[in-house]
Amino acid sequence: MKNEKILLASPHMGGGEMKYIQSAFDTNWIAPLGENVEGFERDIRSFTDAAYSVATASGTAALHLALILSGIKRDDLVFCQSLTFSASANPIAYCGAKAVFIDSERDTWNMDPEALKKAISIYGAPKAVVLVHLYGTPAKAEEIERICNDCGAVLIEDAAEALGSKIGERACGTFGALSALSFNGNKIITTSGGGMLLCKTEEDARLALKLATQARENAPWYQHEMIGYNYRMSNICAGIGRGQMEVLPERVAKKREIFETYRGAFRDLPVSWAEEQPGSFANRWLSSMLIDPGCDVTPARIIETLAQNNIDSRHMWKPMHLQPVFADCPYVCMDEDVSADLFARGVCLPSDTKMTADQQHRIIEIIKDLF
Ligand SMILES: *Cc1c(COP(=O)(O)O)cnc(C)c1O
Repeated sequence: MKNEKILLASPHMGGGEMKYIQSAFDTNWIAPLGENVEGFERDIRSFTDAAYSVATASGTAALHLALILSGIKRDDLVFCQSLTFSASANPIAYCGAKAVFIDSERDTWNMDPEALKKAISIYGAPKAVVLVHLYGTPAKAEEIERICNDCGAVLIEDAAEALGSKIGERACGTFGALSALSFNGNKIITTSGGGMLLCKTEEDARLALKLATQARENAPWYQHEMIGYNYRMSNICAGIGRGQMEVLPERVAKKREIFETYRGAFRDLPVSWAEEQPGSFANRWLSSMLIDPGCDVTPARIIETLAQNNIDSRHMWKPMHLQPVFADCPYVCMDEDVSADLFARGVCLPSDTKMTADQQHRIIEIIKDLF
């Protein structure tokens, strides 16, 4: 037990998944389509209050579809939060569009509305803005939504890390005209791999579904008038998702408990955390800690020491504007480069919902010893 590896975040089945998978086998609906796909889409709609939902093979596929539905074409301008996982930005490149990366703010670590306005003043209105709720901490989505509405940009919400997070009564994933969820293995619930596009109009949902299934036209033969994709979720994966939905509230509560335990244990250390804004609610998917400037304990030191104890931890996401692959893309920040600073001082702590209290206690003691 002592030497069992403690993971950052790993699949945690609830027990109900097999009955949905079994029903897929029993009805031979092993392919995409089938009642688990529709059921899972319905489960997500009732959980988030989203109007329409289309299950996809991945969160990245959902983001790609969101860009296509926004009308993004070659050389169009898309603004994207810099501090994120590369999957937020890669689909911009798939479309041949031009990314401009936007800095984060210090309180939520998400897109700084002031930097967004500055980018609009420099480059003009973009066709779309990709907003992320990093580690499940809600961004200032209402303010960003207003800025997008004012300049006619489509707001695309990357809520891959934020299922279960809310701003007021509104679920993360319902701010964007188009929003993406992810059910990758490390996310708060998983389908082994998968995603979902949430949208506000039936027209968008229909087009997304068509594009995700090779863009077949309604004809007796295979007729194609658009380039299509093979982006649909399988009925087996959706069965896992249906079972996982039964335990989602439990997972959110556990993630928040893990976060509160770290925060309480480290209250006397020179560290800080991304804060929930008044009225907002974070799912605390990954407990991520910021070490105060000038402290000689570095993220690398914490990660290395935990690794020696067979415990997984990570650096914070390295911002896209510091990634060699996006070196040609402009970056807009205010007086200082906040996302670069967060990356330099941030560390993601083990947040696995299967972790025991004893295991978390051991992690806490190892980290305390370093300070
Ligand atoms: C995981 C993740 C994605 C991509 O989801 P996949 O399902 O792995 O394709 C996109 N954006 C963010 C911020 C993520 O964390």
